[in-house]
Amino acid sequence: MSKFLSNKYKNLTPYVPGEQPKERKFIKLNTNESPFAPSKKAIKFASEQAEKLYLYSDPDLTELTDITAKTLGVESGNVIMTNGSDEVLNFIFMAYCDNDTPALFPDISYGFYKVFAEINNVKGVEIPLREDFTVSVDDYIGKKGTVFIANPNAPTGIFLPICDIERLLSSDRERIVVIDEAYVDFGGESAVKLLGKYDNLIVTQTFSKSRSMAGARLGFGVASKEIIKDLMSIKYSTNPYNVNRMTAAAGIGALLDEDYFKKNCEKIIENREWTKRELEELGFCVLPSLSNFIFAKSSKISGKDFYLRLKERGVLVRHFDKDRIKEYNRITIGSISEMQEFIKITKEILESK
Ligand code: PMP
Repeated sequence: MSKFLSNKYKNLTPYVPGEQPKERKFIKLNTNESPFAPSKKAIKFASEQAEKLYLYSDPDLTELTDITAKTLGVESGNVIMTNGSDEVLNFIFMAYCDNDTPALFPDISYGFYKVFAEINNVKGVEIPLREDFTVSVDDYIGKKGTVFIANPNAPTGIFLPICDIERLLSSDRERIVVIDEAYVDFGGESAVKLLGKYDNLIVTQTFSKSRSMAGARLGFGVASKEIIKDLMSIKYSTNPYNVNRMTAAAGIGALLDEDYFKKNCEKIIENREWTKRELEELGFCVLPSLSNFIFAKSSKISGKDFYLRLKERGVLVRHFDKDRIKEYNRITIGSISEMQEFIKITKEILESK
């Protein structure tokens, strides 16, 4: 830390992304990326924009916003496109959390919520998940603050039914509820359909997972037109060209290729269920996931040891040291051959114990 750093950032604990190893080739099941290439249309549209990189991108992102809205069945005024969904989440913290309005989120959830709270100098209140890692909506009712729920949740993969989200929204129409749907395309149900009924709802989604564009950085928020205007004014006060030309074009290409998107989601779901069955046969406890990852623990090997032994053998999964979940590992669902290799290595590890 330099002596110049502002006091307001001296105690910041940054988000720790999953490892992106450079030294050797791993089977990478640690950052919830897609194992599939982006749509050919996305690649073509992005490369066509490469020669135009001397020009700024469209700050309004009109074409991309229009097609995203159309895909979701909402109007363009209900959508803001951002640099990954992390950016729209940060905008939401900036816009709707302050001294009087803390951020409320589960104790086991996306680690960035805590960091966004910290960097925006607002209180982050962690509300414990139940013993079985499900969200108890009742625990949020009557509490003041902006609510952040990842649905499906990460790293558990557990999906909170839409009727529970509706209960959360209707329990206090004066507070904002943010549903982070980064993983909704793998079997969950989107809360976007509740938008007409609740003006306190914000849904965020991403192109990083189901549309194979993690490296492009593209996400979006969906909400009432008034909320989108608030978020737009924050975008125009931080980075008007927040989505670059190649990414915007790739996003349009991806949305025009629905068949490819659907096929890939189906493959991930199929591979997830296969992996879950195989792990259960090996005695693992696997939480019910509607995501592109599973959260699993074994009584035969500790979470940390399993993570380290997999790493030694060239497989990366994500381990968290937090007490409640330290016996688990989060395993991203890859291609079927990657998952077969993962299971083969897992059997070897268990046999060698
Ligand atoms: N929400 C959740 C729950 C996530 O796991 C992630 C991915 N790390 C994000 C949001 C952000 O994803 P991105 O910025 O790539 O859209």
